[in-house]
Order: sequence, then structure tokens, then C-alpha cells
Amino acid sequence: MTVMVAGAGPAGLMLAGELALAGVAVTVVDRLPQRSPYCRGFTLNARSLELLDRRGILDRFLAAGPTVPYSMFADPRRPLDLTAMDTDHPYVLGIAQTTVEQLLEERLAELGVVVRWGHEVNDFTQADDGVTVRVNGEPERVDYLVGCDGSRSTVRKLAEIGFPGTEATRFGLLADVALADPGELSFGMHGSVFVIPRPGYVRIVLEEPAPPGDRDQPVGLDYFQQVLREALGRRVELREPRWLTRFSDAARQAERYVAGRVILAGDAAHIHPPAGAVGVNVALADAVNLGWKLAATVLGRAPDGLLDSYHEERHPAGAQVLRTTRAQATLGRKDPDLDPLRDLFGELTDLAPVNKHIAELMTGISTRYDPKIPGDHPWLGRLTPNLKLTTDQEQTCVAELLHPARPVLLELGDRALPGGVRAHCPEHPDLEGVLIRPDGHTAWISTTTDPQPEDTLHAAMATWFSPRR
Ligand SMILES: Cc1cc2nc3c(=O)[nH]c(=O)nc-3n(C[C@H](O)[C@H](O)[C@H](O)COP(=O)(O)OP(=O)(O)OC[C@H]3O[C@@H](n4cnc5c(N)ncnc54)[C@H](O)[C@@H]3O)c2cc1C
Repeated sequence: MTVMVAGAGPAGLMLAGELALAGVAVTVVDRLPQRSPYCRGFTLNARSLELLDRRGILDRFLAAGPTVPYSMFADPRRPLDLTAMDTDHPYVLGIAQTTVEQLLEERLAELGVVVRWGHEVNDFTQADDGVTVRVNGEPERVDYLVGCDGSRSTVRKLAEIGFPGTEATRFGLLADVALADPGELSFGMHGSVFVIPRPGYVRIVLEEPAPPGDRDQPVGLDYFQQVLREALGRRVELREPRWLTRFSDAARQAERYVAGRVILAGDAAHIHPPAGAVGVNVALADAVNLGWKLAATVLGRAPDGLLDSYHEERHPAGAQVLRTTRAQATLGRKDPDLDPLRDLFGELTDLAPVNKHIAELMTGISTRYDPKIPGDHPWLGRLTPNLKLTTDQEQTCVAELLHPARPVLLELGDRALPGGVRAHCPEHPDLEGVLIRPDGHTAWISTTTDPQPEDTLHAAMATWFSPRR
């Protein structure tokens, strides 16, 4: 029973780890000869940190960069306060995407899976009982193929999955370079030019004045230098170009995330303006939602419809990301007609509840999946908080119990919940029981003030896991 993951970016590496943890044979291929040295993202947000904590690998990520308790929503003059979010990690972690990928690849190797670099998916044919994938021209038979192969996904195109959305209207240019005279350009915003410090170089991001004739045309240093001069009104000498590229505000989403035995995750399933710096984070969230469901399906223990729930849950989450990033891109336009809207929106985000709402929306902390059972407890469908617990033997917590990526039933009060982990939760003495999915979301919850009948627990079990025997 094998799954092939096409693409060793954040989505593919995280997904492969989840599958390996569940005991599924997984093969990861990437067409690049080795990991790209070019670093797109530089951040992990609170939801990603929560997910990594639930797999016991958070410390190695936290050790790799500083944490910052604020972020930005469209207006750099108004930082978004992250400290009020309901999370153990009310900050953003500054960590290079290349480091995130390296750490995920190392973890994957610890689980016995080595990425097959230099292997490209060229084609596939799907049958009722499997998928024949052509990798570097050679056929390989697998049970499922997951396209984690980025925004121009070959898998998505071959599967003929529609990718509707909005065309690119604005283009940005990015240069990782050195300044000939470091005193000539300070870090921060200079009108529409954003200068970001990086170890040993600077990243300069600016808007391209007009859409390029050919958007795939490589960006040259002379051209970038000229656009920078026009934007600043003076020449700043750049040297040692490491990486020059172009990005756009296009926003698109795959119509279907699951097409039989072919599945999409990460940028292959959705692209959006880079505002808010969330792409890596959404890719990880897709992977953690999909991993346990695909594992149960491959291992023959999934209830009906479990794999389809990946689309049902992550498509709306992706649509939300398109909405928040497009809103930011619009508010970030230079158009002076937008000034009143920007000002008003800025005033609103200064209000604490609005700030909290936007911070939790952007980071995905408030992501709630339909629990498919009645109940109105605020945790139902959302990430179960990382409760501190005492069992007969030890002090533990929800995150630790989820390290093996198995469901957890907490038996917390006087009520007997056979099969559960017997524990006390001093912070929440009213809790009777909580059923937690492997991705950390609450599937069922009962309290002494709002006790839930046994049949709702059985319904939740039957919805997400095979019925208990
Ligand atoms: C300028 C810029 C800045 C960004 N900054 C941030 C940020 O600060 N924070 C953040 O969270 N996100 C950021 N992002 C977004 C982030 O980089 C992406 O969302 C993220 O990389 C998506 O991960 P992925 O695994 O889905 O795809 P990718 O990282 O694109 O990985 C896809 C992999 O698939 C491989 N592949 C492609 N085709 C095939 C094939 N046919 N066969 C085999 N392998 C194949 C590729 O070689 C690649 O390794 C930024 C993006 C850009 C462009």
C-alpha cells in the first residue's frame, strides 16, 4: 500500500511525515536535483507552531529563529498585535522557508523516508484500484498520488482539475542582493519599496510599474536597478545578486482537492497574493488535515467519506485565505481613492476584538471544521487547546498525547468513557470528556454544565474513525 507524494516543498514533506508516522509506505519525488537555495518565505505562524507541537517537533523549529509578537495586515504603520490570540504561541516565528524544509526533510528521514530528488512526475493514469505514475518516464504503480507540486502543478493539470480565480493584475519584484553602500538604504518601508534585513544580504521588494510583456522572462539586475531608481527617485547601487524574481496577486483555487485517487495540497490547490505571508502555513495545515485521513483510507480503516472530508474542510479554509490575502492586496494599492478605506480599516483594527478576530483568521487559529454532530461548545470543531493534564503516572498535555498522530479520547471527570485516557485537568474541572482527532481538532466534548449524550460520542467516533468494536 503506497502513496506517492509529488513535490518536496512544505506540503509534501509534512504530508509524507504524517503518512510515515501512521505506518503507510510513502515515496516522495521532486524534480529538482536538490533543495532550491532560493528562500521564498520567512515565517511560521501560530497555527503551524501548534501543529508542529502536536507532533513533538516544535523545539527544533523554535530554536531556528526569533519570535515576534506582532504581524501586519495591509498597513505597515499599524502592527497587528498577536498576543491576544487563543494559542500557546501568540507570535510569528522568523524562520527561513529553506530551514523549515530542511527540518521537515530531516524528520522524514528519521521516519525512514528519503526524498528522491531529481525525479519528475511526467504523467499518470488512474484506475479503480490504483494510479500508474510516470516518473522520469518510468511507470510506478501506487495506491494514491498526491500533487504537492506547487502553483503550476503538473498533477493538477493532468487530472484536469479546474483552477478558477482572479487573473494577476499587479506584479511585484523581489531581489536578494547586497547594497554597495549599506548606509544608502535603511531597513523598512521607503514609499512602496520594502527593504528587509537578511543574514549577509538584503531582500528588496517593490511593485513593478506596469505588467510585464512576458511574466516568465527572468528579472535582470539592471532592470531591477532601474525600477528601484524610479521608485526611490535616486540610484542605489546593488551588488551580488543571489535571487531575482517576480510574483503576482493572482488568486486561484482548485475546484476539487480530491479526484478519485489523485489529491492536491498546498500551492497546487490554491494560490493567493503573498500579503500576510501565509503560504507555507496553509500548506502545512492542508498536509496535517489530509495525512491521517489518507492513512486511514490506505490502511482500509476509514469510515465512508473520510477522504472527501479533506476537500470539504480545506477548500473553505483555502477560500478564506484567498479572501484575507486579496483584501490585504487591495488595501495595499497605491491608489489614493483607497486612503479613506485604509484609514477606516486601520481604525477598526486598532479595536482589540477586531485585532484579535483578524489575527486568528489570518493565522488560521480560528479555523473550525464542521463537527457533524450537534453541540455548541466553542472548542467543538476547533483545535483543542493544549490542556495540561495529570494522569496516574505523569504530567502530560494534549499536544504530547497527539505525538503519534492517533485519535485521543480524554476521560476527565466522574463519567466513564471506556477506551479513554483517564486524566485530570485542573484548569477546566467542568470537563467530562473530549474526543480529539489526530490533527488536533475537537470531535466531541462534554462538560458537567452541558453534558452530551453517549450516542453523540458514538456518532463522532463513527464519523471520523471506524466504529469501536
Ligand atoms: C516571493 C514570495 C514570498 C513568500 N513568502 C512567504 C512567507 O513569508 N511565509 C509563507 O508562509 N509563505 C510565503 N510564500 C508562499 C510559499 O513560498 C508557498 O506557499 C509554499 O512554498 C507552498 O508550499 P508547497 O509545498 O505547496 O509548494 P512548493 O514549495 O512550491 O513546492 C513544490 C515542489 O514540487 C516540485 N515539483 C514541481 N513539479 C513537479 C513534478 N512534476 N514532479 C516532481 N516534483 C515537482 C518543485 O520542485 C517543488 O520542490 C511566499 C511566496 C513567494 C513567491
